[in-house]
Amino acid sequence: MSENRSEINQLGEFGLIARIRQKFNLQNPTSIKGIGDDAAVLDGGDEYTLVSADLLAENVHFDLAYTPLQHLGYKAVSVNVSDIAAMNGKAEQIVVSLALSNRFSIEAVDTLYEGIRAACDHYKVDLVGGDTTSSQSGLIISITVIGKVKKDKITYRDGAKANDIICVTGDLGAAFTGLQILEREKQVFLTDPGMQPLLNKYEYLVGRQLKPIARTDIVFELEELGVKPTAMIDISDGLASELFHIGKNSNVGVRIYEDKIPVDELTYNTAALEFRIDPVTCALNGGEDYELLFTISQEDFEKIKNHADIHMIGYVHEKPDEHTMVTKQGNVVALKAQGWDHF
Ligand code: ADP
Ligand code: MG
Repeated sequence: MSENRSEINQLGEFGLIARIRQKFNLQNPTSIKGIGDDAAVLDGGDEYTLVSADLLAENVHFDLAYTPLQHLGYKAVSVNVSDIAAMNGKAEQIVVSLALSNRFSIEAVDTLYEGIRAACDHYKVDLVGGDTTSSQSGLIISITVIGKVKKDKITYRDGAKANDIICVTGDLGAAFTGLQILEREKQVFLTDPGMQPLLNKYEYLVGRQLKPIARTDIVFELEELGVKPTAMIDISDGLASELFHIGKNSNVGVRIYEDKIPVDELTYNTAALEFRIDPVTCALNGGEDYELLFTISQEDFEKIKNHADIHMIGYVHEKPDEHTMVTKQGNVVALKAQGWDHF
């Protein structure tokens, strides 16, 4: 073993992935796209096959103090299906791998799988396999999803062109704000176990954190409208980080407008008034909203301009790495991608 030891946090998650990627070349003509997008793309004959994996580790991605196992199962499926949606595809199968410590009972596993089954029913996905082992510390759940997309419908992160319109679905920042609520209620409970958390008022925010729903509906509607995004990614790490991915991969710059970023009223009030966090910061850097971010060419503007759940937040320009936001006051500021770094 070499004497040198470098810490992973020097590279960060994306740096580490880039380092791994650099050491591997694709060897099979059926491997169309390897590391670097929301899902790998394989030649499946008439269509492309899409594959993506996501791993959730206890106390890194979830805290069982406030995460019902059923929701965890549902979320683990949703985050995978979301990556297939980001390729403009449809998820069809999942394989589920579990590492369980002896803290977990059969009933607990049953509950986890109730959530997985509810998600399979919602997304019309089949559970077709997996792996099970024991764990020394807590629960780890890793899901691999397999999906399909017509070859002419696939959307990568690298297709955005100057003058394209930047679109985002739903609203942003709610999942992060929901997490702040759950963390706060956990602290209240730890101080006084007699206290029951008051979550009713925050149901929407907490729901967005605990039980996200992948935007498979948008993939369907874009097809109906005859719109193929030029680039697409799902928002797992925060709007800013995902904009950087599209910018970098497409070799373009982005400009967004602060007042166009969709933030739900409850998110706005809760973040601003209760946590004193700028709601726009929650949207830009909060993550876990699992909405879709995509770019469309100008000629498709008319087709989506009346869609109630698609918001146009800016445009693409040709200067790579110049990613900016026009603030509500009209100032132009550089976008920063904090995202989520797991190290
Ligand atoms: P997403 O946020 O869409 O799930 P990630 O940021 O997790 O995407 O991953 C980016 C890309 O890096 C994907 O193509 C993914 O398959 C790949 N990747 C992530 N971790 C590894 C790893 N340990 N080895 C090889 N490829 C990886
Ligand atoms: Mg993704």
